[in-house]
Amino acid sequence: MDSQNQHFETRSVHAGVAKDNSYNSVITPIYPSSTFYWDDLQTTRGYDYTRSGNPTRTGLEQNIAALEGGIDCRATCTGMSAITAVLHMFQPGDHIIASDDIYGGTYRLFADVFTRQGLEFSFVKMTDPANVKAAVRPNTKCIWIETPSNPLMNIVDIAAVVEVAQSAGAITIADNTFLSPYLQRPFEFGVDIVLHSTTKYINGHSDVVGGAVVTRDKENAERVAYLVNALGLGCSPFDAWLVLRGVKTLAPRMEAHQRGAMALAEMLDAHPAVEKVYYPGLPTHPQYDLAKRQQKGFGAMMSFDVVGGRPAAEHIFRTARLYSLAESLGGVESLFEYPESMSHASMTLEARRNAGITEKTIRVSVGIENPDDLVADMQQALDSI
Ligand SMILES: *Cc1c(COP(=O)(O)O)cnc(C)c1O
Repeated sequence: MDSQNQHFETRSVHAGVAKDNSYNSVITPIYPSSTFYWDDLQTTRGYDYTRSGNPTRTGLEQNIAALEGGIDCRATCTGMSAITAVLHMFQPGDHIIASDDIYGGTYRLFADVFTRQGLEFSFVKMTDPANVKAAVRPNTKCIWIETPSNPLMNIVDIAAVVEVAQSAGAITIADNTFLSPYLQRPFEFGVDIVLHSTTKYINGHSDVVGGAVVTRDKENAERVAYLVNALGLGCSPFDAWLVLRGVKTLAPRMEAHQRGAMALAEMLDAHPAVEKVYYPGLPTHPQYDLAKRQQKGFGAMMSFDVVGGRPAAEHIFRTARLYSLAESLGGVESLFEYPESMSHASMTLEARRNAGITEKTIRVSVGIENPDDLVADMQQALDSI
């Protein structure tokens, strides 16, 4: 049975997991060796130098490629380095269209670092594909998709945006961090390159930062591999080993994350201290139907607006015990945070208000704790405002 025919859970446990031939260890060993010796001038065992390739890293890369349905993956040292690698596919004068509510670090890299290198960017409201079409220029080379968005969970219609890109002769790149390949596989909608911050759900244990770029055709695969090596962005064997351990439980973790998220969203939606809940799994979410069609589940990220603004938010942060006040997401433990002064503080006030982020907004990354406990804890915090 080749891995293409296996179910997702099976692939995540077995794909790329090289068994050790020396002592029969069941898992992939860590090969921290920086260099590998040659048998003779013609012969290596497939590796010569760890920046260019490492057996532990290869294991992780094969695993993530199998989960996304790609032909190749390059594991990088952070999510930002995965994005850095693919942006080097473009040249000064090339134009890229992205949503106006992409991840803050990505926005900074685009609007500051790569704008100085001569790339041109347009930021549009991508919930309407017509806005993407209207932003296309003769030099548009790429459309950047991130869905659901952060922190307000807007959904981009991937197939519709791919259609715009294809008629413009541009490629599409999707940041699939928020849902993981278990819940969304952008290649199925024609996306060219998928990337991840593996720091989040793929590793899932809040103990490593990492990234991945997955490709589905030979030309992009070779270019990305070349760039990751040339720029020196590959992750360490230790980090690759941790992420490979984490990814094996991705499927059951995502199921558990979603159970808690749905229960929490329903409680929040009904609570008088909550003005609005942003979760695609609620039928009241304006893009519920699109999320249902495009995703295999609704994920476990959500935001809500609390009645009473900042003082009420501060009360919740002080009072809820199971949720830690922290940035990041996708770990087994529940986190919440305040986009206004934490994850989205690098945006201007005006940009935050335009995006719909206010002093009332709280973002939650729902962990895998028992849903009843998660609901009860948040409820007592809200009840006592
Ligand atoms: C965290 C994150 C990144 C950046 O990843 P790092 O591992 O922090 O470098 C990029 N995109 C999204 C959607 C993220 O959540």
